Amino acid sequence: MAVDTAEKTVAASLDALREDAAGCTRCDLYRNATQTVFGEGGSNARVVFVGEQPGDKEDIEGRPFVGPAGRLFDAILEEAGIDRKKTYVTNAVKHFKFEPRGKRRIHSKPNAGEIRACRWWLDQELTQIQPDVAVALGATAARALIGKAVPVMKLRGTVAESLEGVPVFITVHPSSLLRIPDEMDRHRARELFAADMRRVKKMMRG
Ligand code: SF4
Repeated sequence: MAVDTAEKTVAASLDALREDAAGCTRCDLYRNATQTVFGEGGSNARVVFVGEQPGDKEDIEGRPFVGPAGRLFDAILEEAGIDRKKTYVTNAVKHFKFEPRGKRRIHSKPNAGEIRACRWWLDQELTQIQPDVAVALGATAARALIGKAVPVMKLRGTVAESLEGVPVFITVHPSSLLRIPDEMDRHRARELFAADMRRVKKMMRG
């Protein structure tokens, strides 16, 4: 199959999946969230970045990685020289899980059952895209990709294997950088994350 045709086929499959996921009721998280936030990116992506779940802004806009952590992530990818056309970003869990507190919606961690239920979609995304590498951004993503809980801080920078056999580079979620109160520590954490992204770039073959 010619490259263009192959890419169009992948893009059409991802569009169909996105449409199906919009009506997903595989777990209860669809009940309170605004909408399913499916993955986005190039149909010829060589790297799939996997976060935890959509945040408040992503839930409202219906797009992944558009909040403050997403903007920081974009900037670091650019610095690392990663071509955004070769990337696909998604989350382990595709509905926003939160606790209402007054008018605010406070992020709540997805549980093992929710991660397992939503793994079905991640599998479809990886199977269609067949990237050179998937990047687990934090513990929930690592758990979803690898199929078991792993100590992210201990394994950061190492490569495991997804349930589909895709190499999985393990690192932290970019939102963790925003939560560091001390400026020097935050700067150091950003440098470490940027170094991780440079290693990811080397794993991209295409
Ligand atoms: S979180 Fe995932 S599995 Fe649960 S309803 Fe949403 S799309 Fe479906």
